[in-house]
Amino acid sequence: MAVLKLRYLGDPVLRAKAKPVARVTKRIAKLLKDMEETMYAADGVGLAAPQVGVSQRLIVVDVGDGPIHLVNPVLEEGEGAEVDREGCLSIPGVFGYVERYARVVVSGLDGNGKPIRVEGSGLLARALQHEIDHLDGVLFIDKATGLVQAGEEPGEEPQPGGEAPSGWDAGQPGAGGP
Ligand code: ZN
Repeated sequence: MAVLKLRYLGDPVLRAKAKPVARVTKRIAKLLKDMEETMYAADGVGLAAPQVGVSQRLIVVDVGDGPIHLVNPVLEEGEGAEVDREGCLSIPGVFGYVERYARVVVSGLDGNGKPIRVEGSGLLARALQHEIDHLDGVLFIDKATGLVQAGEEPGEEPQPGGEAPSGWDAGQPGAGGP
């Protein structure tokens, strides 16, 4: 496994619509593993392939219950609404409040090419929606209200790839209720 180089806001790959994966090959399985390692190295809860410069429909998510790999993820169901604080590994130090479905069902393929369905609520639902948005070139800052730059607060510097609070993708637990 390898930690991949993160792409940041301003990189056109983050605004491109990612292409579906035709077949889950060994190369795709390895890429998912590398994305997982990259996500952990950056203390993120999710990562989408465009964030490592690959314009293909692949995401990894881990909100503390183990890694989930999804190829060609599709949001099948969404219900309820929840507003919570969100950040993104590709936009270090910036946070805002985003309304998302409170509960979602996502279908796709796993790293072995087998169909899977993932049901999630709370942070998992948020992370899945945030990462799927990445595949369509949509960033959380497009939807967020109350955006703040952490560096504008005393004692906090935005550091690309650095420590908290810039280390999150998709959300920050405990940063506010529903
Ligand atoms: Zn993100």
